[in-house]
Amino acid sequence: MYQVVVIGAGQAGLAAAYHLKRRGLIPGQDFLVLDANPGPGGAWRHRWPSLTLGAAHGIHDLPDFPLGEPDPSRPAAEIVADYYGRFEAHHELQVLRPARVTSVSDSPEHTDTSLSPSPDEPVRRPLTVQFELPNQETRSIQTRLLISGTGTWDKPYWPYYPGASEFSGRQLHTHDFRSAEDFASQRVLVVGGGTSAAQFLLQLDEAGAETLWSTRRPPEFRSLEKNPDWGRDVERAVNERTRAGLPPISVVGVTGLPMTPMYQAGIDAGVLRSRGAIDSFGPHSVTFRDGSVEEIDTILWATGFRASLDHLAPLKLREPGGGIVMDGVRVAKEPRLFLVGYGASASTLGATRAGRAAALAALKRLETLAEPGETFALSGVRLD
Ligand code: FAD
Repeated sequence: MYQVVVIGAGQAGLAAAYHLKRRGLIPGQDFLVLDANPGPGGAWRHRWPSLTLGAAHGIHDLPDFPLGEPDPSRPAAEIVADYYGRFEAHHELQVLRPARVTSVSDSPEHTDTSLSPSPDEPVRRPLTVQFELPNQETRSIQTRLLISGTGTWDKPYWPYYPGASEFSGRQLHTHDFRSAEDFASQRVLVVGGGTSAAQFLLQLDEAGAETLWSTRRPPEFRSLEKNPDWGRDVERAVNERTRAGLPPISVVGVTGLPMTPMYQAGIDAGVLRSRGAIDSFGPHSVTFRDGSVEEIDTILWATGFRASLDHLAPLKLREPGGGIVMDGVRVAKEPRLFLVGYGASASTLGATRAGRAAALAALKRLETLAEPGETFALSGVRLD
């Protein structure tokens, strides 16, 4: 049995793994990191090639391992995959991949009485983690504690609109976008009010596509200089929701879009001008809420992602509002579980901090669970 299993080797999972190791737990022995991807990079390895490092909001350093100053014109996918790979190798984190966790459940059948003094004491019962290896081989392991950092990439969000399923053109999500050149000379409707949508519109326009933009609310471009505390504002607003058990709100819903010279030029050229909300679709057209109708070839849904948490369904953590009641990285209903990269920590900075917080909280809990003669060096743990 493991002391801790970490699911996901993105920024959040890697930060957690680093702090577990740094404080005395041995990778592959005391804790195990499982990752569904075939190689390092978390969600970043899937980002489209034209998302260069310079076009991203920025990648926060992993702990004690500076990213340095890579060429900002290179694809972020390549840079981050290489960076995470070097981090994993340097710290010998022994990530097991590709290994997709399919379920996490209670282990009521566990017979080790030293761990299960009474069925009424669920905290001491281990969790069972089931995962699939590439040849469809299924494995099951047990762990005292779990840190889940599975991000959002596997859960693209497609909103519902009447007629969308009868639309005869191509529909794709940010998740599947590769290159603006694929849409040259098409009429493309881009849906969504975030930075991905704004960047797609500019790239599509440059590649010779004719673009239309739909947002539910008028896009709000804000100067970042005017609010140097925006990062903390996001954290506060999202934390308030997750503490109340509501699903996390999107970052753009809190911050607005950052005004940059590139976006200003797009506004001036009329490319970043929203036609408002969608009413419905026809086989070849979109009808906007204001009644106007436009022929279109393609719909690009830049409508964001949801937390990828299906593997935790057996633990029944969801509230009626769809969210999970959180206190920082702790899950109110399940003291054996920590969620990282969820809600307010869904940025590289937030994920790095959450990974550390979860590792320290897990180590503290392990101290209370430790049996005499535990093999790992918890006595050397520094809970700073
Ligand atoms: P991820 O990087 O998504 O890592 C999760 C890992 O878990 C993946 O490797 C995945 O394969 C694995 N996994 C998932 N499910 C399972 C499972 N069931 N079993 C095993 N493994 C599993 N943030 C910024 O700070 N700066 C930016 O510039 C920025 N740009 C973004 C652009 C886009 C288009 C998007 C969608 C997000 C962006 N973000 C950005 C937010 C970004 O998601 C976070 O910054 C951060 O990378 C998330 O890290 P993570 O570790 O939580 O998740």
